[in-house]
Amino acid sequence: MDRTYLIKPELDEDYPVIDYGKGVYLFDISGKRYLDASSGAVTANIGHGVEEINEAMMDQAKKVSFVYRSQFTSVAAEKLAEKIALSTPGDLNWSFFVNSGSEATETAMKIAIQHWQEKGRPLKTKILSRWVSYHGITIGALSMSGHPGRRSRFVPLLADFPVVSPPYCYRCPFNKEPKSCGYECAKELDVAFRRIGPESIAGFIAEPIVGAAGGAITPPKDYYRIIKEICEKHDILFIADEVMTGFGRTGTMLACEHWGIVPDLVSLGKGMGAGYAPIAATLVTERVMEPIKKGSKVIMSGHTLSANPQSSAVALAVLEYLEKNNVIEDVEAKGTYLKNSLKKLKTLFPFIGDIRGKGLLIGIEFVGNPKTKQSFPRELNVTERVVKMAKDVGLLLYPATAGEDGKSGDAIIISPPLTITKR
Ligand code: PLP
Repeated sequence: MDRTYLIKPELDEDYPVIDYGKGVYLFDISGKRYLDASSGAVTANIGHGVEEINEAMMDQAKKVSFVYRSQFTSVAAEKLAEKIALSTPGDLNWSFFVNSGSEATETAMKIAIQHWQEKGRPLKTKILSRWVSYHGITIGALSMSGHPGRRSRFVPLLADFPVVSPPYCYRCPFNKEPKSCGYECAKELDVAFRRIGPESIAGFIAEPIVGAAGGAITPPKDYYRIIKEICEKHDILFIADEVMTGFGRTGTMLACEHWGIVPDLVSLGKGMGAGYAPIAATLVTERVMEPIKKGSKVIMSGHTLSANPQSSAVALAVLEYLEKNNVIEDVEAKGTYLKNSLKKLKTLFPFIGDIRGKGLLIGIEFVGNPKTKQSFPRELNVTERVVKMAKDVGLLLYPATAGEDGKSGDAIIISPPLTITKR
């Protein structure tokens, strides 16, 4: 194409034009094949061109594609909310449907604040978060994100939310060894709550496994149990941002299930529509809904396309597909196989510093010096170059570095569709 009016991520870059997708592959108009080892942005969880999903879309389109949430609900949205309530742990029974992960985390933030208002505690308005994190690109979600590379242009507009360190064992912020660390990173939250004042804090948000900002940074075993206890002790809601990890990516419906905790609120996105339609959700427990149900009975948020029937039908079909084909059950074994295969590469390529993650969310961190763990200088753009070289040979990887502040190294994510097979 000679001329484009499409605003692309990099205006001068020539992006391949995709013709079609099938299973774990995408094919461009020149016929070149790409193995989608990142599921796009960790999104195409059941692969491309799945017939059942296309049929569900068509069936819904023949009935109705749009109803406005303030006037109607739809069979698809009602069924989806019910199925999500049954598929998630604890009493995460309420779903608020939106269109993107950013909207889902912002909605979670707003519901947390409203919960306390309706309980007569209007001063609880702050949301705390961690450095080396990403919760979305809209101003509220970016405020919560500890991602200097994505914040820097908009700093004057952003609230200062991130305050604590991530559970980043490979580069422990406290210079401890994982076996004897005493979970200082979790305990830092307790100190932060006391310093800032729990009476002013509505919630704490974290990604169960850090995605875009750090490359599948996975916490040690008891981290989330301690975090949840600290939140409960101070009467502060815990929001799990499962936009990347939810819908089976790590081998359970929610990643939090690995550590046996039920968050007060959860944000979902990406794999929920699996790339077939824009849909995301904020899940809310009974306890958090209670004062709102008894009080104003109105959640002060929403978008024109919230709970869109077409998108809801897609997400419902994705969930049914996952169930019918036992997709989530197989994720752990596939992830272990992939991780073990990647570990063999570590002996061949010394610049592979760390291989981590859970299920089919696997991160690889690159280092200039494997002994000292010295990162490559940022200006070398190692992450971006690795991703580009792989794409040139037909392999799609996801770049995952927060950049600029040196708090996270160069990393990529490998996250193929959960339906990938060995051969
Ligand atoms: N939260 C997490 C954990 C994410 O990984 C992302 C996107 O990468 C978002 C929120 C924002 O989602 P979206 O890009 O759909 O707005």
